[in-house]
Amino acid sequence: MKPTVAVLFSGGLDSSILLAHLLRQQQRVQPLYVDSQLHWQGAERRQAELFLRAVQGPDLEPLVVLSLPLADLYADHWSVTGRGIPGADEADEEVYLPGRNPLLIVKTHIWCRLHGVAQLALGSLKNNPFADATGDFFQAFEAAMDRAVSGHVQLVRPLSQYDKQQVMRLGTHLPLELTFSCLNPSDGLHCGRCNKCAERREAFRSSGLTDPTSYRAAPRPIALSKDPARCIE
Ligand SMILES: [Zn+2]
Repeated sequence: MKPTVAVLFSGGLDSSILLAHLLRQQQRVQPLYVDSQLHWQGAERRQAELFLRAVQGPDLEPLVVLSLPLADLYADHWSVTGRGIPGADEADEEVYLPGRNPLLIVKTHIWCRLHGVAQLALGSLKNNPFADATGDFFQAFEAAMDRAVSGHVQLVRPLSQYDKQQVMRLGTHLPLELTFSCLNPSDGLHCGRCNKCAERREAFRSSGLTDPTSYRAAPRPIALSKDPARCIE
């Protein structure tokens, strides 16, 4: 039987395209979804399951959901409360979730170790600005985790040399309308106004692809002037 690669899968564009890419390469794929009960995760998980159904095949293992509640740790952070969610015009740093990658990797790495899965794939792209997404970080963290469990699970990042446009091109044949990337969904729809929705629109636009997403609202118009009489909002 072929070896299995686990994929840290959120149902977003990057991890969905990664998962389908590995299936295309004839790998046996085990999707792992980590449910931290964050504001958007109910809608996100439903979409994740729809995407998996759409790409199902003999090499795709059933979704495993790992629970990692973070409300006690993140407390009144916007990711828990849904208040003050970073908008389209805020810097990418604003969407950083403290310790996100270490938190995700600890639990999924140990799951892999306990289930005899030797590779854990992450959908991290080139130019990720965060300190816990650098090559050095992953190398050091992999070594620390291996020491902790007295075994080896390789952290692989098959998209780490690709920018967003290259990743989108890998996914042109996929049902990308079933992927999900919104911080503030309502009724299961992308809000159209948050930082992630803006990033999603830009990913389709800059790749020359039609955006199949149903957004609840159009992007906010850009205010041209602070003078309220001239402000178009
Ligand atoms: Zn949104």
